[in-house]
Amino acid sequence: MITLVKGFHDILPDETRKWAFMMSTARESLERFGFREIIPPIMEKTELFQRGIGEVTDIVEKEMYTFEDRGGESLSLRPEATAGVLRAVVEHSLLRKDPLLKLYCIGPMFRRERPSKGRYRQFFQVNAEILGDDSPYTDAEAVAAAYSIMTDIGATGLMMEINSVGCPNCRAEYRKLLQTFFKDRTKDLCSDCRRRLEANPMRILDCKVPECAHMVKDAPLVTDSLDEPCREHFREVREALEILEIPNRLEPRMVRGLDYYTRTAFEIVHEELGRSKAVGGGGRYDNLLKDLGGPDASGIGFAIGLERLSMGIPDDHPRFRRRIDVYVALLGQGAGPMGLTVVNMLRSNGISVETRYSPMSLKAQMKLADKIGARKVIMIGDDELARREVTIRDMRTKDQTTVGIDGIVKLLQGDES
Ligand code: AMP
Repeated sequence: MITLVKGFHDILPDETRKWAFMMSTARESLERFGFREIIPPIMEKTELFQRGIGEVTDIVEKEMYTFEDRGGESLSLRPEATAGVLRAVVEHSLLRKDPLLKLYCIGPMFRRERPSKGRYRQFFQVNAEILGDDSPYTDAEAVAAAYSIMTDIGATGLMMEINSVGCPNCRAEYRKLLQTFFKDRTKDLCSDCRRRLEANPMRILDCKVPECAHMVKDAPLVTDSLDEPCREHFREVREALEILEIPNRLEPRMVRGLDYYTRTAFEIVHEELGRSKAVGGGGRYDNLLKDLGGPDASGIGFAIGLERLSMGIPDDHPRFRRRIDVYVALLGQGAGPMGLTVVNMLRSNGISVETRYSPMSLKAQMKLADKIGARKVIMIGDDELARREVTIRDMRTKDQTTVGIDGIVKLLQGDES
Protein backbone atom coordinates (compact mmCIF):
# COMPACT_ATOMS: atom_id res chain seq x y z
CA MET A 1 0.00 0.00 0.00
CA ILE A 2 1.30 3.43 -0.86
CA THR A 3 0.40 5.77 2.00
CA LEU A 4 0.03 9.50 2.48
CA VAL A 5 3.03 11.80 2.49
CA LYS A 6 3.98 12.37 6.14
CA GLY A 7 2.22 15.38 7.62
CA PHE A 8 -0.33 15.55 4.81
CA HIS A 9 -3.92 14.51 5.41
CA ASP A 10 -7.03 13.50 3.55
CA ILE A 11 -10.28 15.27 4.19
CA LEU A 12 -12.68 12.35 4.00
CA PRO A 13 -16.27 12.39 2.70
CA ASP A 14 -17.71 12.46 6.24
CA GLU A 15 -15.78 15.66 6.93
CA THR A 16 -16.19 17.54 3.67
CA ARG A 17 -19.60 19.03 4.51
CA LYS A 18 -18.03 20.65 7.55
CA TRP A 19 -15.20 21.93 5.40
CA ALA A 20 -17.58 23.27 2.77
CA PHE A 21 -19.52 24.98 5.56
CA MET A 22 -16.36 26.60 6.98
CA MET A 23 -15.29 27.83 3.56
CA SER A 24 -18.69 29.15 2.49
CA THR A 25 -19.21 30.87 5.85
CA ALA A 26 -15.76 32.46 5.62
CA ARG A 27 -16.60 33.69 2.12
CA GLU A 28 -19.90 35.18 3.27
CA SER A 29 -18.33 36.89 6.29
CA LEU A 30 -15.51 38.38 4.21
CA GLU A 31 -17.79 39.56 1.42
CA ARG A 32 -19.87 41.34 4.09
CA PHE A 33 -16.68 43.24 4.95
CA GLY A 34 -16.12 44.15 1.29
CA PHE A 35 -13.43 41.58 0.43
CA ARG A 36 -13.27 39.98 -3.03
CA GLU A 37 -11.79 36.60 -3.83
CA ILE A 38 -8.51 36.08 -5.64
CA ILE A 39 -7.15 32.65 -6.55
CA PRO A 40 -3.35 32.74 -6.92
CA PRO A 41 -1.40 29.57 -7.76
CA ILE A 42 -0.04 27.32 -5.01
CA MET A 43 3.51 27.55 -6.38
CA GLU A 44 5.69 30.62 -6.88
CA LYS A 45 9.31 31.41 -7.61
CA THR A 46 11.33 30.72 -4.46
CA GLU A 47 12.77 34.22 -4.61
CA LEU A 48 9.33 35.69 -3.88
CA PHE A 49 9.15 34.03 -0.47
CA GLN A 50 12.80 34.76 0.30
CA ARG A 51 12.23 38.44 -0.38
CA GLY A 52 8.70 38.61 1.08
CA ILE A 53 8.85 36.50 4.23
CA GLY A 54 12.55 37.09 4.96
CA GLU A 55 15.58 34.85 4.49
CA VAL A 56 16.31 34.41 8.19
CA THR A 57 12.92 32.99 9.18
CA ASP A 58 12.08 29.40 10.08
CA ILE A 59 9.66 29.19 7.20
CA VAL A 60 12.19 30.12 4.52
CA GLU A 61 15.24 28.51 6.12
CA LYS A 62 13.74 25.20 7.12
CA GLU A 63 10.17 24.63 6.11
CA MET A 64 9.63 25.37 2.44
CA TYR A 65 9.06 22.68 -0.14
CA THR A 66 11.58 23.98 -2.64
CA PHE A 67 12.73 22.20 -5.75
CA GLU A 68 14.26 22.84 -9.11
CA ASP A 69 11.86 22.21 -11.95
CA ARG A 70 12.97 20.54 -15.16
CA GLY A 71 13.99 23.90 -16.58
CA GLY A 72 16.35 24.53 -13.64
CA GLU A 73 14.23 27.21 -11.98
CA SER A 74 13.86 27.20 -8.18
CA LEU A 75 10.18 26.97 -7.26
CA SER A 76 8.43 26.61 -3.90
CA LEU A 77 5.01 25.47 -2.76
CA ARG A 78 3.52 28.45 -0.98
CA PRO A 79 4.08 28.37 2.80
CA GLU A 80 1.68 31.33 3.22
CA ALA A 81 -0.56 33.32 0.95
CA THR A 82 0.33 36.99 1.38
CA ALA A 83 3.47 37.02 -0.77
CA GLY A 84 1.63 35.42 -3.71
CA VAL A 85 -1.39 37.70 -3.39
CA LEU A 86 0.82 40.79 -3.34
CA ARG A 87 2.83 39.49 -6.28
CA ALA A 88 -0.45 39.28 -8.21
CA VAL A 89 -1.47 42.77 -7.07
CA VAL A 90 1.81 44.22 -8.31
CA GLU A 91 1.92 42.19 -11.51
CA HIS A 92 -1.62 43.17 -12.52
CA SER A 93 -1.49 46.75 -11.12
CA LEU A 94 -4.63 46.04 -9.12
CA LEU A 95 -4.10 48.94 -6.75
CA ARG A 96 -4.14 51.39 -9.64
CA LYS A 97 -7.62 50.20 -10.57
CA ASP A 98 -8.84 50.05 -6.99
CA PRO A 99 -7.03 52.22 -4.44
CA LEU A 100 -8.63 50.39 -1.50
CA LEU A 101 -8.17 46.74 -2.28
CA LYS A 102 -9.60 44.03 -0.06
CA LEU A 103 -8.77 40.51 -1.19
CA TYR A 104 -9.15 37.03 0.21
CA CYS A 105 -8.18 33.55 -0.82
CA ILE A 106 -8.77 30.08 0.53
CA GLY A 107 -6.53 27.12 -0.12
CA PRO A 108 -3.72 24.85 1.00
CA MET A 109 -0.34 26.01 2.32
CA PHE A 110 2.76 23.83 2.69
CA ARG A 111 5.36 23.88 5.46
CA ARG A 112 7.68 21.07 6.34
CA GLU A 113 7.13 21.39 10.09
CA ARG A 114 7.26 18.60 12.62
CA PRO A 115 3.77 17.09 12.42
CA SER A 116 1.65 16.93 15.59
CA LYS A 117 -1.99 17.35 16.53
CA GLY A 118 -3.21 20.43 14.68
CA ARG A 119 0.15 20.82 12.90
CA TYR A 120 0.41 19.51 9.38
CA ARG A 121 2.67 19.89 6.37
CA GLN A 122 -0.26 20.73 4.16
CA PHE A 123 -2.94 22.82 5.86
CA PHE A 124 -5.71 25.10 4.67
CA GLN A 125 -5.91 28.79 5.35
CA VAL A 126 -8.46 31.50 4.80
CA ASN A 127 -6.35 34.51 4.06
CA ALA A 128 -7.41 38.16 3.81
CA GLU A 129 -5.55 41.36 2.93
CA ILE A 130 -6.52 45.03 3.05
CA LEU A 131 -4.25 47.19 0.91
CA GLY A 132 -4.01 50.95 0.60
CA ASP A 133 -5.36 52.17 3.95
CA ASP A 134 -3.01 52.84 6.85
CA SER A 135 -5.58 54.05 9.36
CA PRO A 136 -5.48 52.25 12.74
CA TYR A 137 -9.19 51.63 12.26
CA THR A 138 -8.28 49.44 9.29
CA ASP A 139 -6.19 47.29 11.63
CA ALA A 140 -9.23 46.96 13.87
CA GLU A 141 -11.35 46.10 10.85
CA ALA A 142 -8.95 43.30 9.90
CA VAL A 143 -9.16 41.92 13.44
CA ALA A 144 -12.95 42.28 13.33
CA ALA A 145 -13.16 40.40 10.02
CA ALA A 146 -11.08 37.52 11.41
CA TYR A 147 -13.19 37.45 14.56
CA SER A 148 -16.41 37.53 12.57
CA ILE A 149 -15.40 34.54 10.40
CA MET A 150 -14.77 32.50 13.48
CA THR A 151 -17.90 33.48 15.34
CA ASP A 152 -20.04 32.99 12.21
CA ILE A 153 -18.61 29.48 11.96
CA GLY A 154 -19.61 28.92 15.56
CA ALA A 155 -16.25 28.93 17.36
CA THR A 156 -16.38 30.04 20.98
CA GLY A 157 -13.78 30.84 23.64
CA LEU A 158 -11.74 33.03 21.32
CA MET A 159 -9.29 35.69 22.40
CA MET A 160 -7.40 38.17 20.25
CA GLU A 161 -3.84 38.67 21.41
CA ILE A 162 -2.46 41.90 20.11
CA ASN A 163 0.86 43.68 19.99
CA SER A 164 2.76 46.30 18.05
CA VAL A 165 6.13 45.33 16.59
CA GLY A 166 6.85 48.92 15.53
CA CYS A 167 8.31 50.15 12.27
CA PRO A 168 11.91 49.89 10.93
CA ASN A 169 12.66 53.11 12.79
CA CYS A 170 11.70 51.68 16.23
CA ARG A 171 13.18 48.33 15.34
CA ALA A 172 16.69 49.67 14.71
CA GLU A 173 16.76 50.70 18.34
CA TYR A 174 15.06 47.52 19.55
CA ARG A 175 17.44 45.33 17.58
CA LYS A 176 20.39 46.87 19.41
CA LEU A 177 18.70 46.34 22.78
CA LEU A 178 18.08 42.69 21.94
CA GLN A 179 21.65 42.16 20.74
CA THR A 180 23.01 43.64 23.95
CA PHE A 181 20.67 41.49 26.03
CA PHE A 182 21.45 38.21 24.27
CA LYS A 183 25.19 38.84 23.80
CA ASP A 184 25.70 38.28 27.52
CA ARG A 185 23.83 35.00 27.23
CA THR A 186 25.18 33.73 23.90
CA LYS A 187 26.48 30.47 25.34
CA ASP A 188 22.96 29.44 26.40
CA LEU A 189 21.40 30.14 23.01
CA CYS A 190 20.75 27.36 20.51
CA SER A 191 22.97 27.32 17.42
CA ASP A 192 20.19 28.80 15.26
CA CYS A 193 19.71 31.71 17.66
CA ARG A 194 23.43 32.41 17.79
CA ARG A 195 23.26 32.95 14.06
CA ARG A 196 20.03 34.94 14.38
CA LEU A 197 21.68 37.22 16.92
CA GLU A 198 23.62 38.98 14.18
CA ALA A 199 21.29 38.46 11.24
CA ASN A 200 17.85 38.91 12.74
CA PRO A 201 17.68 39.04 16.56
CA MET A 202 13.88 39.42 16.67
CA ARG A 203 13.52 35.87 15.43
CA ILE A 204 15.05 34.67 18.71
CA LEU A 205 11.82 35.77 20.36
CA ASP A 206 9.81 33.01 18.73
CA CYS A 207 12.43 30.26 19.01
CA LYS A 208 10.78 27.08 20.25
CA VAL A 209 13.90 25.61 21.94
CA PRO A 210 13.03 25.60 25.68
CA GLU A 211 16.28 27.26 26.84
CA CYS A 212 15.85 30.13 24.38
CA ALA A 213 12.14 30.48 25.17
CA HIS A 214 13.04 30.68 28.86
CA MET A 215 15.57 33.47 28.26
CA VAL A 216 13.13 35.40 26.13
CA LYS A 217 10.91 35.89 29.18
CA ASP A 218 13.35 38.53 30.48
CA ALA A 219 14.22 40.12 27.13
CA PRO A 220 13.38 43.78 26.45
CA LEU A 221 9.86 44.35 25.14
CA VAL A 222 9.32 45.76 21.68
CA THR A 223 6.46 47.88 23.00
CA ASP A 224 8.97 49.82 25.13
CA SER A 225 10.90 50.83 22.00
CA LEU A 226 7.98 52.17 19.96
CA ASP A 227 8.41 55.66 18.56
CA GLU A 228 5.65 58.22 19.04
CA PRO A 229 3.73 57.62 15.76
CA CYS A 230 3.76 53.84 16.30
CA ARG A 231 2.69 54.25 19.91
CA GLU A 232 -0.21 56.48 18.87
CA HIS A 233 -1.22 54.11 16.06
CA PHE A 234 -1.34 51.21 18.50
CA ARG A 235 -3.35 53.21 21.03
CA GLU A 236 -5.96 53.93 18.38
CA VAL A 237 -6.11 50.30 17.24
CA ARG A 238 -6.86 49.24 20.79
CA GLU A 239 -9.42 51.99 21.18
CA ALA A 240 -11.19 50.81 18.01
CA LEU A 241 -11.21 47.21 19.26
CA GLU A 242 -12.91 48.42 22.44
CA ILE A 243 -15.55 50.22 20.36
CA LEU A 244 -16.09 47.03 18.34
CA GLU A 245 -16.26 45.01 21.59
CA ILE A 246 -13.77 42.42 20.40
CA PRO A 247 -12.21 40.51 23.29
CA ASN A 248 -8.50 41.27 23.20
CA ARG A 249 -5.46 41.39 25.40
CA LEU A 250 -2.04 42.90 25.02
CA GLU A 251 0.63 40.27 24.44
CA PRO A 252 3.88 42.29 24.42
CA ARG A 253 6.08 39.26 23.64
CA MET A 254 4.24 38.17 20.54
CA VAL A 255 6.24 39.07 17.41
CA ARG A 256 5.03 36.45 14.87
CA GLY A 257 7.31 34.38 12.67
CA LEU A 258 7.45 36.50 9.53
CA ASP A 259 9.74 39.43 8.90
CA TYR A 260 7.35 41.63 7.01
CA TYR A 261 5.19 42.79 9.89
CA THR A 262 5.18 46.41 10.98
CA ARG A 263 3.16 47.90 13.82
CA THR A 264 0.08 45.81 14.62
CA ALA A 265 0.50 42.05 15.00
CA PHE A 266 -2.23 39.78 16.30
CA GLU A 267 -3.03 36.18 16.98
CA ILE A 268 -6.34 34.53 17.60
CA VAL A 269 -6.16 31.87 20.23
CA HIS A 270 -8.70 29.37 21.30
CA GLU A 271 -8.69 29.05 25.09
CA GLU A 272 -8.70 25.25 24.80
CA LEU A 273 -5.96 24.93 22.20
CA GLY A 274 -3.57 27.26 24.02
CA ARG A 275 -1.11 29.80 22.69
CA SER A 276 1.18 27.49 20.79
CA LYS A 277 -1.82 26.41 18.77
CA ALA A 278 -3.16 29.70 17.50
CA VAL A 279 -6.17 29.44 15.21
CA GLY A 280 -5.18 32.49 13.22
CA GLY A 281 -2.82 35.40 13.06
CA GLY A 282 -1.98 38.47 11.12
CA GLY A 283 -0.56 41.93 11.10
CA ARG A 284 0.30 45.09 9.28
CA TYR A 285 3.00 45.13 6.61
CA ASP A 286 3.57 48.66 5.40
CA ASN A 287 6.74 47.98 3.38
CA LEU A 288 6.01 44.65 1.78
CA LEU A 289 4.33 45.91 -1.38
CA LYS A 290 7.22 48.25 -2.04
CA ASP A 291 9.75 45.50 -1.26
CA LEU A 292 8.08 43.31 -3.87
CA GLY A 293 8.44 46.02 -6.51
CA GLY A 294 4.98 47.56 -6.07
CA PRO A 295 3.72 50.98 -4.99
CA ASP A 296 4.46 52.50 -1.62
CA ALA A 297 1.15 51.39 -0.13
CA SER A 298 0.36 49.94 3.24
CA GLY A 299 -1.29 46.64 3.97
CA ILE A 300 -2.68 44.47 6.71
CA GLY A 301 -3.76 40.88 6.54
CA PHE A 302 -4.49 37.72 8.45
CA ALA A 303 -4.75 33.98 8.01
CA ILE A 304 -6.98 31.51 9.78
CA GLY A 305 -6.05 27.83 9.82
CA LEU A 306 -9.01 25.65 8.93
CA GLU A 307 -7.68 22.44 10.51
CA ARG A 308 -7.34 24.24 13.84
CA LEU A 309 -10.69 25.94 13.47
CA SER A 310 -12.40 22.66 12.65
CA MET A 311 -11.07 21.15 15.88
CA GLY A 312 -13.50 23.35 17.79
CA ILE A 313 -16.56 22.36 15.74
CA PRO A 314 -18.26 18.98 16.29
CA ASP A 315 -18.23 16.68 13.24
CA ASP A 316 -21.69 15.33 13.96
CA HIS A 317 -23.58 18.63 13.94
CA PRO A 318 -26.93 17.93 12.18
CA ARG A 319 -26.11 20.44 9.45
CA PHE A 320 -23.09 18.36 8.39
CA ARG A 321 -25.15 15.20 8.03
CA ARG A 322 -25.53 13.76 4.59
CA ARG A 323 -28.96 14.47 3.11
CA ILE A 324 -30.50 12.75 0.16
CA ASP A 325 -34.10 13.42 -0.84
CA VAL A 326 -34.86 10.00 -2.23
CA TYR A 327 -33.43 6.51 -2.29
CA VAL A 328 -34.74 4.38 -5.14
CA ALA A 329 -34.88 0.70 -4.23
CA LEU A 330 -34.86 -1.58 -7.26
CA LEU A 331 -36.38 -4.95 -6.39
CA GLY A 332 -35.94 -7.68 -8.93
CA GLN A 333 -34.22 -8.07 -12.24
CA GLY A 334 -36.76 -6.24 -14.37
CA ALA A 335 -36.75 -3.02 -12.34
CA GLY A 336 -33.62 -1.60 -13.97
CA PRO A 337 -35.02 0.29 -16.99
CA MET A 338 -37.92 1.83 -15.05
CA GLY A 339 -35.57 2.60 -12.17
CA LEU A 340 -33.24 4.49 -14.52
CA THR A 341 -36.18 6.46 -15.90
CA VAL A 342 -37.38 7.43 -12.41
CA VAL A 343 -33.91 8.31 -11.11
CA ASN A 344 -33.19 10.43 -14.14
CA MET A 345 -36.57 12.18 -14.00
CA LEU A 346 -36.18 13.08 -10.32
CA ARG A 347 -32.64 14.40 -10.72
CA SER A 348 -33.68 16.50 -13.71
CA ASN A 349 -36.28 18.06 -11.45
CA GLY A 350 -33.74 19.07 -8.82
CA ILE A 351 -34.36 16.17 -6.44
CA SER A 352 -31.28 14.41 -5.04
CA VAL A 353 -31.38 10.68 -5.57
CA GLU A 354 -29.26 7.71 -4.62
CA THR A 355 -29.74 4.16 -5.81
CA ARG A 356 -27.94 0.88 -6.17
CA TYR A 357 -28.15 -0.97 -9.44
CA SER A 358 -26.72 -4.34 -8.40
CA PRO A 359 -29.15 -6.66 -6.62
CA MET A 360 -29.61 -6.25 -2.85
CA SER A 361 -32.39 -7.33 -0.49
CA LEU A 362 -35.11 -4.82 0.42
CA LYS A 363 -34.03 -4.97 4.06
CA ALA A 364 -30.43 -4.12 3.19
CA GLN A 365 -31.55 -1.30 0.90
CA MET A 366 -33.79 0.19 3.61
CA LYS A 367 -30.82 0.13 5.96
CA LEU A 368 -28.70 1.86 3.37
CA ALA A 369 -31.39 4.50 2.75
CA ASP A 370 -31.55 5.18 6.46
CA LYS A 371 -27.75 5.44 6.73
CA ILE A 372 -27.48 8.03 4.00
CA GLY A 373 -30.31 10.08 5.49
CA ALA A 374 -32.83 9.59 2.66
CA ARG A 375 -36.14 11.22 3.46
CA LYS A 376 -38.16 9.01 1.12
CA VAL A 377 -37.67 5.61 -0.41
CA ILE A 378 -39.22 4.79 -3.77
CA MET A 379 -39.73 1.07 -4.25
CA ILE A 380 -39.94 -0.46 -7.70
CA GLY A 381 -40.76 -4.18 -7.70
CA ASP A 382 -42.60 -6.55 -10.03
CA ASP A 383 -46.10 -5.35 -9.01
CA GLU A 384 -45.16 -1.73 -9.49
CA LEU A 385 -43.55 -2.51 -12.82
CA ALA A 386 -46.67 -4.17 -14.12
CA ARG A 387 -48.79 -1.17 -13.16
CA ARG A 388 -46.17 1.50 -14.07
CA GLU A 389 -46.46 2.74 -10.50
CA VAL A 390 -44.08 3.16 -7.59
CA THR A 391 -44.50 2.91 -3.82
CA ILE A 392 -43.15 5.86 -1.86
CA ARG A 393 -42.28 5.42 1.79
CA ASP A 394 -41.75 8.35 4.12
CA MET A 395 -38.78 7.36 6.28
CA ARG A 396 -39.91 9.51 9.20
CA THR A 397 -43.62 8.73 9.43
CA LYS A 398 -43.32 5.29 7.76
CA ASP A 399 -46.42 6.13 5.65
CA GLN A 400 -46.58 4.50 2.23
CA THR A 401 -48.34 5.80 -0.89
CA THR A 402 -48.62 4.39 -4.36
CA VAL A 403 -48.44 6.72 -7.32
CA GLY A 404 -48.16 6.47 -11.11
CA ILE A 405 -44.81 7.40 -12.68
CA ASP A 406 -46.10 10.71 -13.98
CA GLY A 407 -47.25 11.78 -10.51
CA ILE A 408 -44.00 11.18 -8.58
CA VAL A 409 -42.35 14.56 -9.06
CA LYS A 410 -45.53 16.46 -8.27
CA LEU A 411 -46.09 14.42 -5.15
CA LEU A 412 -42.52 14.87 -3.90
CA GLN A 413 -42.42 18.56 -4.69
CA GLY A 414 -45.83 19.07 -3.12
CA ASP A 415 -44.39 17.47 -0.01
CA GLU A 416 -41.54 19.97 0.16
CA SER A 417 -43.79 22.99 0.44
P1 AMP B 1 0.90 31.77 10.31
O1 AMP B 1 0.84 31.96 8.82
O2 AMP B 1 2.08 30.99 10.78
O3 AMP B 1 0.66 33.00 11.06
O4 AMP B 1 -0.34 30.85 10.64
C1 AMP B 1 -1.65 31.29 10.62
C2 AMP B 1 -2.54 30.15 11.03
O5 AMP B 1 -2.39 29.06 10.12
C3 AMP B 1 -2.21 29.55 12.37
O6 AMP B 1 -2.81 30.26 13.41
C4 AMP B 1 -2.75 28.15 12.25
O7 AMP B 1 -4.14 28.11 12.47
C5 AMP B 1 -2.51 27.84 10.81
N1 AMP B 1 -1.26 27.07 10.67
C6 AMP B 1 0.00 27.52 10.55
N2 AMP B 1 0.87 26.49 10.43
C7 AMP B 1 0.13 25.36 10.48
C8 AMP B 1 0.42 23.97 10.39
N3 AMP B 1 1.67 23.53 10.22
N4 AMP B 1 -0.60 23.09 10.49
C9 AMP B 1 -1.87 23.51 10.64
N5 AMP B 1 -2.21 24.80 10.72
C10 AMP B 1 -1.24 25.73 10.64
